[in-house]
Amino acid sequence: MGWKIGPIWQCLNMAKKRAIPVKWSKLGREKSHGFAHGRDFIELDQRLHGKKLLEILLHESLHIELPHLTEGQVERVSIRLTHTLWRQGFRRVDNTQGGRMQDGSV
Ligand SMILES: [Zn+2]
Repeated sequence: MGWKIGPIWQCLNMAKKRAIPVKWSKLGREKSHGFAHGRDFIELDQRLHGKKLLEILLHESLHIELPHLTEGQVERVSIRLTHTLWRQGFRRVDNTQGGRMQDGSV
Protein backbone atom coordinates (compact mmCIF):
# COMPACT_ATOMS: atom_id res chain seq x y z
CA MET A 1 0.00 0.00 0.00
CA GLY A 2 1.46 3.35 -1.06
CA TRP A 3 1.27 6.64 0.78
CA LYS A 4 -1.06 9.28 -0.62
CA ILE A 5 1.11 12.29 0.06
CA GLY A 6 -0.50 14.56 -2.57
CA PRO A 7 -3.74 15.52 -0.79
CA ILE A 8 -1.95 15.94 2.56
CA TRP A 9 0.58 18.31 0.99
CA GLN A 10 -2.28 20.27 -0.60
CA CYS A 11 -4.00 20.62 2.79
CA LEU A 12 -0.78 21.88 4.39
CA ASN A 13 -0.35 24.35 1.56
CA MET A 14 -3.92 25.62 1.96
CA ALA A 15 -3.43 26.05 5.70
CA LYS A 16 -0.50 28.41 5.11
CA LYS A 17 -2.82 30.95 3.49
CA ARG A 18 -5.03 32.06 6.34
CA ALA A 19 -7.40 34.11 4.19
CA ILE A 20 -8.89 33.12 0.86
CA PRO A 21 -7.42 35.49 -1.77
CA VAL A 22 -9.99 37.75 -3.46
CA LYS A 23 -9.65 39.23 -6.94
CA TRP A 24 -11.93 42.22 -7.67
CA SER A 25 -13.19 42.77 -11.22
CA LYS A 26 -16.18 43.98 -13.23
CA LEU A 27 -18.21 40.82 -13.73
CA GLY A 28 -21.48 42.16 -15.22
CA ARG A 29 -21.17 40.32 -18.55
CA GLU A 30 -20.87 36.91 -16.92
CA LYS A 31 -24.24 37.51 -15.23
CA SER A 32 -22.68 36.50 -11.94
CA HIS A 33 -21.63 38.43 -8.84
CA GLY A 34 -18.73 36.10 -8.11
CA PHE A 35 -16.79 32.95 -8.92
CA ALA A 36 -14.74 30.41 -7.02
CA HIS A 37 -11.64 29.50 -9.02
CA GLY A 38 -10.91 25.92 -8.05
CA ARG A 39 -9.69 26.00 -4.48
CA ASP A 40 -7.27 28.85 -5.11
CA PHE A 41 -9.10 32.17 -4.96
CA ILE A 42 -12.44 33.85 -5.42
CA GLU A 43 -13.34 36.62 -7.83
CA LEU A 44 -15.96 39.21 -6.86
CA ASP A 45 -17.68 42.00 -8.75
CA GLN A 46 -16.09 45.26 -7.62
CA ARG A 47 -19.51 46.97 -7.59
CA LEU A 48 -20.85 44.71 -4.83
CA HIS A 49 -21.45 46.39 -1.51
CA GLY A 50 -23.33 46.08 1.74
CA LYS A 51 -25.28 42.98 2.65
CA LYS A 52 -25.11 41.55 -0.90
CA LEU A 53 -21.29 41.72 -0.82
CA LEU A 54 -21.28 39.79 2.45
CA GLU A 55 -23.61 37.16 0.95
CA ILE A 56 -21.52 36.63 -2.18
CA LEU A 57 -18.23 36.63 -0.23
CA LEU A 58 -19.60 33.89 2.03
CA HIS A 59 -21.12 32.00 -0.92
CA GLU A 60 -17.87 31.82 -2.89
CA SER A 61 -15.83 31.12 0.24
CA LEU A 62 -18.06 28.13 0.98
CA HIS A 63 -17.40 26.78 -2.53
CA ILE A 64 -13.67 26.95 -1.77
CA GLU A 65 -13.76 25.47 1.72
CA LEU A 66 -16.56 22.90 1.27
CA PRO A 67 -16.39 21.89 -2.41
CA HIS A 68 -18.64 18.86 -1.85
CA LEU A 69 -21.69 21.04 -1.07
CA THR A 70 -24.31 21.43 -3.81
CA GLU A 71 -25.14 24.87 -5.20
CA GLY A 72 -28.43 24.80 -3.27
CA GLN A 73 -26.68 23.99 0.02
CA VAL A 74 -24.10 26.74 -0.53
CA GLU A 75 -26.92 29.18 -1.26
CA ARG A 76 -28.91 28.26 1.85
CA VAL A 77 -25.93 28.39 4.22
CA SER A 78 -24.52 31.64 2.81
CA ILE A 79 -27.90 33.38 3.05
CA ARG A 80 -28.43 32.19 6.64
CA LEU A 81 -24.91 33.25 7.69
CA THR A 82 -25.39 36.63 5.99
CA HIS A 83 -28.64 37.32 7.84
CA THR A 84 -27.06 36.22 11.14
CA LEU A 85 -23.89 38.31 10.79
CA TRP A 86 -25.87 41.33 9.54
CA ARG A 87 -28.32 41.14 12.45
CA GLN A 88 -25.36 41.02 14.84
CA GLY A 89 -24.06 44.27 13.39
CA PHE A 90 -21.21 43.13 11.13
CA ARG A 91 -20.48 45.75 8.46
CA ARG A 92 -17.54 46.62 6.23
CA VAL A 93 -15.51 49.55 7.47
CA ASP A 94 -14.37 51.88 4.69
CA ASN A 95 -11.22 53.66 5.87
CA THR A 96 -10.34 55.22 2.51
CA GLN A 97 -10.10 58.99 2.36
CA GLY A 98 -12.25 59.19 -0.77
CA GLY A 99 -10.87 62.57 -1.83
CA ARG A 100 -10.73 66.07 -0.39
CA MET A 101 -13.57 67.73 1.48
CA GLN A 102 -15.43 70.58 -0.23
CA ASP A 103 -13.23 73.11 1.62
CA GLY A 104 -10.06 71.34 0.38
CA SER A 105 -9.21 69.69 3.66
CA VAL A 106 -8.24 66.01 3.77
ZN1 LIG B 1 -22.39 29.04 -6.23
